[in-house]
Amino acid sequence: MSAGFRRAKIVSTIGPASWDPNVLHDLIEVGTDAVRINFTHTPTDRAAGLVRRISDMARDVGRPVAIIGDLGGPKIRVGDLPGDQLEIEPEGTYWFFPEGDDAPAGSSPHRQIPTTYPELAEEVAPGNRILLDDGHFEFAVREVSDDPPWVSAVAFSAGVLKSQKGINLPGVRVGAPALTEKDIADIEFSVEQVIDYLALSFVRQPSDLETTRQKMDRGCLLIAKIEKSQALENLAEILPLSDAVMVARGDLGVELPYEEVPMIQKRIIRLAQERARPVITATQMLESMIESPQPTRAEVSDVANALLDGTDAVMLSAETAAGGYPVQAVLTMDRIIRRIEHERLGRTGRAGKQVEGFSKIQQTTSGAIAASSLIAVERVGAPFIVTFTQSGYTARIVSAQRPSVPILAITDQWRTYNQLALVWGVQPILFHGGISYSSMLDKARDVALELGMGEAGQRFVVTAGVPFHVPGTTNMMRVEEL
Ligand code: PEP
Repeated sequence: MSAGFRRAKIVSTIGPASWDPNVLHDLIEVGTDAVRINFTHTPTDRAAGLVRRISDMARDVGRPVAIIGDLGGPKIRVGDLPGDQLEIEPEGTYWFFPEGDDAPAGSSPHRQIPTTYPELAEEVAPGNRILLDDGHFEFAVREVSDDPPWVSAVAFSAGVLKSQKGINLPGVRVGAPALTEKDIADIEFSVEQVIDYLALSFVRQPSDLETTRQKMDRGCLLIAKIEKSQALENLAEILPLSDAVMVARGDLGVELPYEEVPMIQKRIIRLAQERARPVITATQMLESMIESPQPTRAEVSDVANALLDGTDAVMLSAETAAGGYPVQAVLTMDRIIRRIEHERLGRTGRAGKQVEGFSKIQQTTSGAIAASSLIAVERVGAPFIVTFTQSGYTARIVSAQRPSVPILAITDQWRTYNQLALVWGVQPILFHGGISYSSMLDKARDVALELGMGEAGQRFVVTAGVPFHVPGTTNMMRVEEL
């Protein structure tokens, strides 16, 4: 199994191109490990149907699939434009004002841009940049009026701006609350639907995560989307408060110069792995596959490099949500991952990138046990590691060491089983036969033999936290025999 077992995971975003049950089923069947439902673009009634369907399909396929609900967060947007669009002319002066207010006196209707953020005039200053539609339109602030609130700005770009496009304010400390009313409703919905992960967009400071966590149910895991320079400044405090992180390269490359993104990606992945936080690398990974059945060679290299950086998962966005070739995009990811892992295993005996030196987590009891399990694997030639886990913690901490062999994570919790689908190198196994060491060990032996992971008489390594019902303690390692 080791050679055929894919360690890195694939996240597929669901949208109009994948709402069809047959397409969704195929996406899961060919290798999607986690499905992202983007609440910004998915009405709640559709999301409820999707959650049910994904769970049924995962059961049908016999594999866990994690469901990620992506909260829009405090994204500032262009309001509704008359006729839904506005021609932007370079060097033209435009007026930004709160949607619903009267347009600034004396401004031409062809130069008015309503926004969803009434505080814009309080927070920007002359000279600041305003970027619209993922940076396709750039403006420089010229004048600011407090009462009535408006901002005038000169355009540097040309084109047709559409309603509801995103606004980025690079370098401006945006004071909007971490959660909008819609986000709060989406969290309530996620609690009802028992969604596995919630991803928070535009995290700026640790308190954004604390506020969100207070509204979530305990078993749900929180992903911090890193897409603002403020989040990067606060990364050391944000990581311990999150359960996983996403390198959200789309907005990151607008908030910061895009040439900064590759090194930032490497830094986020390294720091997340050091703290045993699974990390998803996202956005435009196979962008050309929205319109083509083949990726560009540059995209293939991008996916490969994210894997070489050590990412747990790679994400498809519009490729699976709105593209013409969603299933091919997942198959393409699968091919690239397998090739890179095979190459790495052949050259180094390691399928993943290991943290250099002793990370903070390795100095904890759990981390020390997890690191020792790797040494034990090498010494006894174990073909796999078994973790007994209720919260998923033990499996995550072993995964962060990037062992050369698969991690069989045995759990009696349905949600943990699905959540672990996102974690590098983990094969989750659901087991309801009793929480005792001997019953779980018997299950591990049965599964390993059934999957052809080893032969009778071979030794393997077991890690667990004892007692089993206390999350966050990995304190036991044993060597057992198949
Ligand atoms: C991103 O900006 O890269 C991202 C993943 O966020 P979203 O797709 O929600 O805009």
